[in-house]
Amino acid sequence: NKIKKKILITGGAGFIGSHVVRLFVNKYSEYHIYNLDVLTYAGNLENLSDLNNSKNYTFIKGDITDELFINDLFEDQQFDTIIHLAAESHVDRSIKKPLSFAKTNILGTMVLLNAFKNTWKNSWEDKLFYHISTDEVYGSLSGEGYFLETTPYDPNSPYSASKASSDHFVRAYGETYGMPYIISNCSNNYGPNQFPEKLIPLFINNIIHNKPLPVYGDGKYTRDWLFVIDHALAIDLIFNKGKIHETYNIGGFNEWKNIDLVKLLCKVMDDKLQRDLGTSQKLITHVTDRPGHDLRYAIDASKINKELGWKPTVTFEQGLIKTVDWYLENSIWLSNITSGEYLKYYKNMYLNI
Ligand code: NAD
Repeated sequence: NKIKKKILITGGAGFIGSHVVRLFVNKYSEYHIYNLDVLTYAGNLENLSDLNNSKNYTFIKGDITDELFINDLFEDQQFDTIIHLAAESHVDRSIKKPLSFAKTNILGTMVLLNAFKNTWKNSWEDKLFYHISTDEVYGSLSGEGYFLETTPYDPNSPYSASKASSDHFVRAYGETYGMPYIISNCSNNYGPNQFPEKLIPLFINNIIHNKPLPVYGDGKYTRDWLFVIDHALAIDLIFNKGKIHETYNIGGFNEWKNIDLVKLLCKVMDDKLQRDLGTSQKLITHVTDRPGHDLRYAIDASKINKELGWKPTVTFEQGLIKTVDWYLENSIWLSNITSGEYLKYYKNMYLNI
């Protein structure tokens, strides 16, 4: 009975969600944390095995697009806060299967919004729908400049279009029904527990196994990278101090051309695996660019920095070394998920290398 708040985190078995769930369960013993996840290929309860005995934590297996199930769950549990991370998250997959992205990312978000609205009707005091989104909704920067919270949406991939759409619905529920919401749009994350289809863990795994490193096009496209734990800390700060009906951009102040990032990672891996310097770099293979590939994303994170006092706690080099160390120490985690389905997917995606 000491529990003051019920917090539902969706997608908590995935990469970023697992770090958010761990942070909240350990930090807020007075809150009960519910983790709702359908466990797609990207969801893995091993990411949270350390929380199995935590009293303020419950895992719920379920699909956010299943309206009846979600309505019943919300009616039973009366969650005070939703932190919504569940999504299909991989751009390459969205190019092959755009409809599943629309279903989970748009429809799934709407089902949650609707269930939350029906739970509280108009009594919104102390309630929050916190939607986690991406900087990819802003489209591509061709030259200088940065994405601000006020930058118009201009998404280019089915993934970013589905996330942009979900952001718009969250805002619309705020405007139309007075639902208290916050949205944050973050740059590329990296760190422990990331599924090895995304660049950094894919390349760590490939270097370990002496497989080619498929770099799209000339590798000159630029991304801003943020260590996942710094994203989780930003989410916690926004949850506590963010202003209702506001958007916050979160970024690492850390832009890298892809090819330079891969070369740095190769150097770190040579060092960790005690191979001659330059060994891993020989694995770089240039492959045909992905369609609609955005040239540059760069986040201006000065709003969250100035208003809430957030900044990253680790440099990129520190974060990369922590990440490489984690994957080398967790070879069983890595081999468990890089067998079976993953191999089929990998061959299908990268057969041309
Ligand atoms: P992820 O793919 O690792 O995890 C997504 C999780 O959602 C998985 O556990 C999966 O099982 C779950 N899920 C998928 N469909 C579901 C459904 N229908 N019902 C219930 N659960 C479902 O993704 P991630 O990289 O951790 O990203 C989490 C969120 O953060 C996403 O909303 C993504 O758009 C956003 N984001 C990611 C990044 C990044 O660099 N990874 C950057 C900015 C924002």
